[in-house]
Amino acid sequence: PEAARLVASRVLDVPDFPKPGIAFKDLMPLFADGQAFRQVIDEIVAYHGRASFDAVVGIEARGFVVAAAIAYATGVGVVPVRKAGKLPRAAYSASYALEYGEATLEVHQDAFTAGHRVLVVDDVLATGGTAAATLDLVERAGGTVAGFTVLLELSFLGGRQRLAPRPVHALLTV
Ligand code: IMP
Repeated sequence: PEAARLVASRVLDVPDFPKPGIAFKDLMPLFADGQAFRQVIDEIVAYHGRASFDAVVGIEARGFVVAAAIAYATGVGVVPVRKAGKLPRAAYSASYALEYGEATLEVHQDAFTAGHRVLVVDDVLATGGTAAATLDLVERAGGTVAGFTVLLELSFLGGRQRLAPRPVHALLTV
């Protein structure tokens, strides 16, 4: 509840970014506020439970910020899910449709040991395409999805429905 208030008070609406007509939600002010950021990380950890995951996945690039903080706070490792062509070793790929064109995400094939419980985090859930591809990648790489959390859910874009029946946890839903 405190985290929801912090997210709400520190998100900035940026009109016409990255394209005309899109209102971008910028969470950089939250990341830049040390006390607020720590509170948000602590609430995510408390929601899932410290012992409920063995690794945390962050989605490039803002998800890395959140994932690294959770990993440090809980003593688990962090695994990046990256945009195509960035990972140096053998990787699984998942492509998904964007409004115009396609995006591809990748994870190292040896990122998880079998049965690893993986918490997946990102900053914003919009249409859910990014998250759906990531959850698919985690499973293909042998992980078990323990949870999916975002700081901010844009509910009018239907991401939660797209990911159903997988549970989505959002600190703040607008
Ligand atoms: P989706 O695939 O449509 O759900 O978009 C979610 C992905 O795009 C996440 O990785 C977000 O970081 C990014 N994203 C989409 N919209 C926004 C926004 O308004 N603010 C910040 N990130 C966004």
